[in-house]
Amino acid sequence: MRVLLTEFRQESNSFSPVESDLRFWQLNGWTLEASELYAKHKSEESALGGMISVLESPESFNVELRFGPAFYTQSGGPVTQDVIDAYWSKLKAALADAEHLDAILISFHGALQSQRFDDVEAEIVRQVREKVGDSCVIGASTDLHGYISERLIDSLDVLCGYQTYPHVDLAETGARTARLVLSVLNGEEFHCGYAAVPMMVSAASYTTNSGPFKELITRAQAMVVSGRLRDFSIYQMQPWLDIDHPNSTVVVYAATSDEAQNCAGELADELYGMRHDLTADVHTISAIAERAASSESHKPVILVDSADSSNAGAPGDSAAVLDVLMHDYPQVRAATIIADPAAADAAFAAGIGSTESFSLGGTVDPRAPRVQVHGFVRSLHDGTFIAQGVGSVGSDIDLGRAAVIRVGNVDVLVCHAISGNGDPQLYRAFGIDQQMYDLVVVKANTSYKAGYESIAGESYLADSPGAAASNLLSLNFTKSNLAVYPWVDDEIAKMPVLLRKVSRKVGHGHRHNRAN
Ligand SMILES: [Zn+2]
Repeated sequence: MRVLLTEFRQESNSFSPVESDLRFWQLNGWTLEASELYAKHKSEESALGGMISVLESPESFNVELRFGPAFYTQSGGPVTQDVIDAYWSKLKAALADAEHLDAILISFHGALQSQRFDDVEAEIVRQVREKVGDSCVIGASTDLHGYISERLIDSLDVLCGYQTYPHVDLAETGARTARLVLSVLNGEEFHCGYAAVPMMVSAASYTTNSGPFKELITRAQAMVVSGRLRDFSIYQMQPWLDIDHPNSTVVVYAATSDEAQNCAGELADELYGMRHDLTADVHTISAIAERAASSESHKPVILVDSADSSNAGAPGDSAAVLDVLMHDYPQVRAATIIADPAAADAAFAAGIGSTESFSLGGTVDPRAPRVQVHGFVRSLHDGTFIAQGVGSVGSDIDLGRAAVIRVGNVDVLVCHAISGNGDPQLYRAFGIDQQMYDLVVVKANTSYKAGYESIAGESYLADSPGAAASNLLSLNFTKSNLAVYPWVDDEIAKMPVLLRKVSRKVGHGHRHNRAN
């Protein structure tokens, strides 16, 4: 059996002014040829790595691997057409080279928006389907934060999303996808249940480590253990996507259409039912600084500036916290990070030990405050470090040229671009030991929690401006119908479960028989 693997993965942020063009993808990720995919992912804890390990395991003895392009980059503004054209032309060539294919496995994020298409994944799968026909089984893995449309689920056979947040099951998700696709190839039949859930909540308001969302995931896992389900994915659509009809989603696979219907319905009800408990608890920057100023703990207060998280597509160029600290809380010893290439280069020009005036922040996002400071250049760096954060341990991170500039009692790590946002090494590698400060700014949503657990005192989510603001009502949606929570709050939301039979189609018949 011939199976082709490919990757096209980015989380879009409609509110981000960062242009996700080919140069951005190459600088902040990779755009690999088909011939490079295997070496890149074979031993990686990635979805493709998980797919490869299943497909190369003894139980899949008759599988022959083929490869397509592998494109990945960190979150940014809507992707430009040149990237889609580049990916598609390489994929088309790989499909033509592979001749007959039994299956295609794609690693997506699930929330990719382009300047032309709101649902790039559905568009890509539609075009792939056109090329390979109905008998080829198409499976995709995605992030938990994907936007899963009916159109996407209609054109695919198998879809599996991460079941953890922070995401620590990337490889396992790829493995689940590959196993389900292999079962279809081996002649098994099962049923998919899909329910669109009309809600969109801040990514900072839940985790699978504790709380109601964890309970929901645990309940779904029990459905798998008891045999009611083959697989499930519960999507919390990431809220910085301005598209026509947004929705969160439940996708399940079961042996019978009844179980697919019942389980998807139960999980969707429970997800929608917890919406009021998933409100981000935001605090003003001043209130958090006040806590840091009066804290008696010897551990730093963490100010979570997720609105400016480059993990969620923001440029990381906001000086909003520095602005408040400089003017109102000069006594607070703090560490923060700002992406500002010109300021980093100016610090290099000035040299270590000099005091200069710098303009910091507001270089990309017009919402980000820009501040003028007198700063002392403490240290200069090449900007590289080795990640220790969960899910990316050991990977090389490069911020571009970086400098630590001291402004009053604040150490500002100024760099070209921020990456590894939630990793404590992001500061430590540049001589900033978090424990020496009253307040530390972390520009991440939830990914920081594991790494900061042992060193942090209290953590507060800031109501700060930015492309990834947690206060969704503050974002300027223009395309969305906003017929979802928190804009609409229906006690009894209609969440019909759509059912599809999943089986290998022979010849050119209809792929999906709509049951019920
Ligand atoms: Zn995610």
